[in-house]
Amino acid sequence: MKNAYLGLGSNMGDKKRYLYDAVQMLNHHEGIRIINSSSLYETMPWGYVDQDIFMNLVIQIETSLSPEELLDVCQSIENRLGRVREVKWGPRVIDVDILLYEDQNLITDRLIIPHPHMINRDFVMIPLSEISPQLVIKGKTAIEWAQTFNLDALKKLSNK
Ligand code: ATP
Ligand code: CA
Ligand code: CA
Repeated sequence: MKNAYLGLGSNMGDKKRYLYDAVQMLNHHEGIRIINSSSLYETMPWGYVDQDIFMNLVIQIETSLSPEELLDVCQSIENRLGRVREVKWGPRVIDVDILLYEDQNLITDRLIIPHPHMINRDFVMIPLSEISPQLVIKGKTAIEWAQTFNLDALKKLSNK
């Protein structure tokens, strides 16, 4: 089994429902087991800012799937929950990104791991630091990355 981290986000409709449905669908997959989940956070849009606020969380999983197979599962869950791809970084019912997979560095046509923007995103690094504070990403621990952000921009909605 391999260790991986996924980042989930939603900013349309019943966001909390979409996030929990996606987590359930991941957990029901025979090749995936959820080890840990961050709290749920309410966060400001990133990239394309003229849109509704997001809800985000990060989960740690154990998986027998390869990175490509894991991406297929993430994308099929997005599709089953009704995601339509329109504006880049625009509104979406659900987004499931692979943040880390073991300590692999991977660049293919479909996949970049570690996720290239993760260290610039408060909504990734703060939830990640909650579940794995000492995890090292690009030379700094998750908690050190988390401390580079203004913590007020994120609102913790629930403990797990
Ligand atoms: P961002 O990648 O900046 O978070 P996004 O999540 O809105 O933006 P999507 O439209 O969901 O982008 O995905 C675009 C493509 O990114 C996917 O089709 C996928 O092939 C590719 N991709 C590359 N690396 C990853 C990764 N680590 N996790 C998920 N998708 C990835
Ligand atoms: Ca994303
Ligand atoms: Ca994505």
